[in-house]
Amino acid sequence: MANRERNKKILLQLVKRPDNSWCADCGAPDPDWASYKLGVFVCLNCSGIHRSLSSQVKSIKLDFWEDELVEFMKLNGNASSKALYEKAVPPYYYRPQQNDFEGVLCLLLNRSVLREQWIRAKYERMEFKGEIKYPPLSYTTGFYEGLLWKKGKENTQFLKRKFVLSEREFSLTYYNKENESKGPKAVISIKDLNATFQPEKIGHPHGLQITYQDADHTRNLYVYHESPEEIVTWYNAIRAARYAYLKTAYPTGSDEELIPKITRNSLKEGYMEKTGPLEREQREWLEALRRVLSRPMSPQDYAGE
Ligand SMILES: [Zn+2]
Repeated sequence: MANRERNKKILLQLVKRPDNSWCADCGAPDPDWASYKLGVFVCLNCSGIHRSLSSQVKSIKLDFWEDELVEFMKLNGNASSKALYEKAVPPYYYRPQQNDFEGVLCLLLNRSVLREQWIRAKYERMEFKGEIKYPPLSYTTGFYEGLLWKKGKENTQFLKRKFVLSEREFSLTYYNKENESKGPKAVISIKDLNATFQPEKIGHPHGLQITYQDADHTRNLYVYHESPEEIVTWYNAIRAARYAYLKTAYPTGSDEELIPKITRNSLKEGYMEKTGPLEREQREWLEALRRVLSRPMSPQDYAGE
């Protein structure tokens, strides 16, 4: 097994090169997995997503590597993959970070919708190779409409509602499906809007919280879509509209200044406190978790309330 040790040594040297020493997909340091189809070094979390695509992965340290696969990794690597698959990522498109935490629900299900869709968009759908797409990608057109499951105001029931996003109007509009002829239920300005994935709060792995200002009030919409691709398209379409708005509002702002302002991750920045009384948050969180775990309600869960 001379080759085994030799190949492992080569891989360990390869992964120390500056471009390879960060996960190709989320930037986590010291990746110890690699996709030998794409020739990229990735972290454990991203390797799980690659495994579910047709992109085969191996552990650098634990798996056996054939000579030709090691040769392939030598010829490719993270820098050349980036030049090919990330040639034209729109500035507003959300790139997952290594420490993105979308909540306990993601941990339980061992998946993160943003990370998975970023990897699929990059390598499977090849959205960022700079080729002209026809029809154009939905989040790039400045207009997007579709149905989302929206949580009712008075109860926890989700109902299908039509949403329309317009970059020209800088607005997000939604309708009560039965009464579309009566006009929109709400027209929300993009100006003070935030969107953040909150799966545990919404009780769905694709749960998106949309927060906005309505006169003096901070209001929330809780929505999801069954399709992970669809909900991430909505998220990036909203980010595209926010980016366009920020460009108009701060014409001299650089991308470095504007991009962090597009959306905020509420868990990271303590934004959650603004969204409602703590007790209600906690109860909703418990209910969401309970639904996920699909176990019967027990009175002890509410003890002390
Ligand atoms: Zn990663």
